[in-house]
Amino acid sequence: MEIDKLSVIQTANHNLMNTYGRFPVVFVDGYDSTLIDSEGKEYTDFLAGISVTNLGYSNPKVKDAIIHQANTIIHTSNNFYIEPQVALGKLLCEHSFASKAFFCNSGAEANEGAIKLARKSAYLKYGSGKNEIVAMKGSFHGRTLATLNITDNEAYREGYGPHPTGFLFTPFNDIQALEKVVGKNTAAVIVEPLQGEGGIHPVNLDFLAKARELTEKYDCALIFDEIQCGMGRTGKLFAYEHYEIEPDIMTLAKALANGIPIGAILAKGDYAETFAPGNHGTTFGGNQMATAVGKATLQEILENNLTDEVYRKGQYLKAKLQSLQEEFDLIKNVRGLGLLLGMELNIQGSEIVKEMLAKSFIINCTQGNILRFIPPFTITEAEIDAMVLALKGVLEDKGV
Ligand SMILES: *Cc1c(COP(=O)(O)O)cnc(C)c1O
Repeated sequence: MEIDKLSVIQTANHNLMNTYGRFPVVFVDGYDSTLIDSEGKEYTDFLAGISVTNLGYSNPKVKDAIIHQANTIIHTSNNFYIEPQVALGKLLCEHSFASKAFFCNSGAEANEGAIKLARKSAYLKYGSGKNEIVAMKGSFHGRTLATLNITDNEAYREGYGPHPTGFLFTPFNDIQALEKVVGKNTAAVIVEPLQGEGGIHPVNLDFLAKARELTEKYDCALIFDEIQCGMGRTGKLFAYEHYEIEPDIMTLAKALANGIPIGAILAKGDYAETFAPGNHGTTFGGNQMATAVGKATLQEILENNLTDEVYRKGQYLKAKLQSLQEEFDLIKNVRGLGLLLGMELNIQGSEIVKEMLAKSFIINCTQGNILRFIPPFTITEAEIDAMVLALKGVLEDKGV
């Protein structure tokens, strides 16, 4: 079927809420790390749907899982046992710190559930006074009413009050500040081991160790939000493995089912046993379609050692970006782990993103001046070379 791009854009303006600044592109097909638009133009993807389609656009195991569920059952409800949900829960527990999993439908919903879990646990042990959730400056944890209050962006909260209370921010990687804010009223400390939306900032080992120590001292939960940095993205299955520090609770979403909506809360110890029937739930969460595809996605990563590939390709891309840094004064810094890389500029990045799109490369910019590179794991060295060459051309036009 022919797609008329102008009519799609006009109808979108008419019938969709105006929540996104969209590029005037309609993708209709894809394979590996390539997306194809309605006019047949091919783009190399360094965004992966914001770290979602990590296995690219044509992984056969992902397709088979979708087709199998379409031919059998998509959904029943959590009133019954769901075999692929059980299998995915088991697989995630076998390959992480966790002993139990809960499935939901998005990242914000996973974090919302993790907050509820930490508060319920503190409440059952200590009563209602122990309820504070400590989050980091620069964090992004979602857009629901509760998660907005642990997302460090004042503008996102504006106009949505009154807000739920008991949420505090502390500067990222600042041990002294953390020591002051965590105490007997703390129910949880939530950290992204590698801040994504906040500008590709990895947590420091000593800070994370202090967060682990303080949460143990005050018997509260250490929550890792690995929604963006988990599922192999940093060259380890989970980013916390770089630090060898385990959380009590971890949230996943984005790449967990390579694009089929899913979220998960993983937990160990008391936190795995806190919820009882009626305490928390979701209709769609963990349905056959989402969890069968999640299982296929995770198996692909494990069976093909994709984390090693991510590490290797990440090193390659990082070295290329660093060589640009040597050439251009407007590049302040290149950082990140695996295939979650950022390039900080001393100019705004949005124009560069647009010009790269015109040259058939999908990149992204966060925090105004940090270019973000999060390609599917299928990206090749040749595709990386071509993107870096295009970026060099765009930067040359901006002056040195
Ligand atoms: C994207 C993201 C979320 C929110 O996930 P949604 O599925 O958009 O609700 C939460 N935390 C982190 C670290 C993210 O990158």
